[in-house]
Amino acid sequence: EPPGLGTLTKEEVGRMTWSFMHTMLANLRSTNSSSSKVSEAIQIVKSTTNLFPCVVCSEDFSNILTELPYEKFVLSEVGSNYKKNPSNVLSRWLCVLHNKVNTKLGKTLFSCEDDDLEKRWKMGSKKC
Ligand code: FAD
Repeated sequence: EPPGLGTLTKEEVGRMTWSFMHTMLANLRSTNSSSSKVSEAIQIVKSTTNLFPCVVCSEDFSNILTELPYEKFVLSEVGSNYKKNPSNVLSRWLCVLHNKVNTKLGKTLFSCEDDDLEKRWKMGSKKC
């Protein structure tokens, strides 16, 4: 069936939404990100998930975000693993949040190590 208005499922929109957010954060951290870009990125994650077109999903996710806001995640990361790159913290944060949804849905958890996130979500310069 050709794609068209109203033919996308929650799963398809979910995949696209996660792909957009993970790709955005994985590539943001590779640039010399200013703190205003970081705040913008956090706002985009909050707005995108709040507007996710499945009311139950976005309501549940808003509880997940309340439990683990970015600021709290940053604090929990301090000193947790000296090998972790501090500039990748946004990517790791979204990974942990996504894993909470994965747990709820009974899906396999994704590794939130820098290398694994980079391999999956960082765009090569030729792809931009
Ligand atoms: P997805 O979960 O869509 O992930 C896409 C790809 O991302 C995976 O193939 C994998 O390569 C990678 N990935 C997986 N986990 C991670 C991670 N932790 N970090 C980085 N990369 C990862 N569906 C419901 O049925 N109920 C809900 O309540 C619900 N809530 C949602 C809330 C939000 C904010 C969003 C964006 C989606 C939600 N969805 C919900 C949709 C659901 O999360 C999936 O997108 C959908 O089920 C398709 O799953 P998938 O197995 O293709 O992989």
